Amino acid sequence: MTLLPPGSTIGILGGGQLGRMLASAAAELGYRTHVLAPDAESVAAQTASSFTRADYHSRIVLDEMAELCDVVTYEFENIAIDPVAYLASKVPVHPAPAALEIAQDRASEKAFIDTIGGRTAPWRRVTSIAELQAALTVIGAPAILKTLRLGYDGKGQVRIADAGEAEAAWEAIGQQPAILEGFVTFSHEFSIILARGHDGSMVSYPPPWNQHKDGILALSTLPAPAEIAGQWAVAAALTGRIADALGYVGILTCEFFATVDGPVFNEMAPRVHNSGHWTIEGAVASQFENHIRAICGLPLGDSALTAPAVEMENLIGNDVDRCAEILAEPGAHLHLYGKANARPGRKMGHVTRLKRL
Ligand code: ADP
Ligand code: MG
Repeated sequence: MTLLPPGSTIGILGGGQLGRMLASAAAELGYRTHVLAPDAESVAAQTASSFTRADYHSRIVLDEMAELCDVVTYEFENIAIDPVAYLASKVPVHPAPAALEIAQDRASEKAFIDTIGGRTAPWRRVTSIAELQAALTVIGAPAILKTLRLGYDGKGQVRIADAGEAEAAWEAIGQQPAILEGFVTFSHEFSIILARGHDGSMVSYPPPWNQHKDGILALSTLPAPAEIAGQWAVAAALTGRIADALGYVGILTCEFFATVDGPVFNEMAPRVHNSGHWTIEGAVASQFENHIRAICGLPLGDSALTAPAVEMENLIGNDVDRCAEILAEPGAHLHLYGKANARPGRKMGHVTRLKRL
């Protein structure tokens, strides 16, 4: 692909904070952005050049978007495939819809990883209570039951401590197609954030240690402890194989568990990721910049740390009340997403702290 000249327009499907930060990064590189989202209040639209508030399924709106944009990307993976595939028939879309299709279904995602030699938790696809009970006899307890599709931030999943809890778990996830995963004993969670360009070049970031609270990412810290650092190469190599196998263009994120037997793949996201927000100030080129560079055919930017240690803390719900305190901290960079209401569990912003060791 030829390099997209500055002044070109990048379409973004989705109106959340990831789109907001992508639009800012695009603007810095001289590109225009156009956001399509159904939300009345789109925080991505606040930083984009233009915004269409509409349903993703309107052909008229998609035709307009294809006309207006030189390349299209998306900022969330639960978008329906149809509009993405339709756009891809008219304008370059990155990452390609095939990556989205795999990442949207936990069973196809895990099966795909199995085929390219990655390690996952033992898993079975289940579509009925009988299949769940049968899967439990193979996988054993404790285990986790996750809806096949549409899960995020720990939603759509329930832990099963012993086989007697199967029925309650099946009810709890709404009796829908799911996967049962064996419970992985891990010391740490981490992620590999990798950018791949049209020419197959790749850059990946040093892995953050990701700590969750109530199923939501709370903290990402770097440099990662030895338990993660020792598994970085294997996890990054697997992420690279995934990107190559998919002919991927853009940022790809894979979440891993660090175990005594090496990294276990948890899930992938075909997009920029919350565990990469630290890269805005904590890396030479951010994940958002590298996504824009990749989809526009520019050379990829440097992923090296800009400080000896970096920490990203999510500001969830009422955490935003601490803004004044955070602004007074030396080395702290506050990001607010422009959301009007601080509901519990809602990601309102984040703070990145650049630290000395
Ligand atoms: P989400 O899409 O909500 O991020 P994940 O599959 O990443 O879903 O699960 C959320 C969190 O639950 C993980 O970050 C991890 O802490 C925990 N978890 C998920 N699967 C397993 C597993 N098989 N074994 C142990 N812990 C798990
Ligand atoms: Mg996850």
